[in-house]
Amino acid sequence: MSEFLTIDTTSGIVTEELIEPLKVFGENHPMLSVPIPEYKEAIPNPSMKNLVARLKMTMKLYSAIGLSANQCGIFQRVFVIGTGHFQIACINPKVIAQSEEILKDNEGCLSFPAMFLKVDRPTWVDVEFYDETGAFKQIRMEGLTARCFLHELDHMNGVKFVEHAGPLAVQMARQRQGKLVKQYVRNNKNAKKVSNKK
Ligand SMILES: [Zn+2]
Repeated sequence: MSEFLTIDTTSGIVTEELIEPLKVFGENHPMLSVPIPEYKEAIPNPSMKNLVARLKMTMKLYSAIGLSANQCGIFQRVFVIGTGHFQIACINPKVIAQSEEILKDNEGCLSFPAMFLKVDRPTWVDVEFYDETGAFKQIRMEGLTARCFLHELDHMNGVKFVEHAGPLAVQMARQRQGKLVKQYVRNNKNAKKVSNKK
């Protein structure tokens, strides 16, 4: 839990509210397979501001670089991307242009723990979205930022990253995922043994 300060820009009144991280659901959550409709409420508003703060908090907690609301079981067309202090919220995100050049690179997804797949993405994209303050943004994103935006935009459209890979690649990634999970469990047990000895 952490304190989330809200400043009312007209009155100047600062209020404190406690926010908690969100639960991230696994790959079989039904909300990951359906397109999320456009967000129609006027922004800014307290509930979107709160949701964005919780998404950013959750993303940071998992050391992730992108998180969509529907991964947390929330049916809103919004995601957050970024690292550390550079975190942005994208409401009603759109791609308006993209590079012809495509790059294949590794991707992971919080809904598929310890699973990594090579996915083809454009090297840059021109995008549009609103942030949680209601500001309209038009930005060119490149490299990892573009890849991250496109991965999260797929979530908004009910598309999972495994759908970008062939069945054999997915099968191999599942095997590696299984090994990584076993290794993680083993390491955790060893860590517990070591701490018990102390
Ligand atoms: Zn994802």
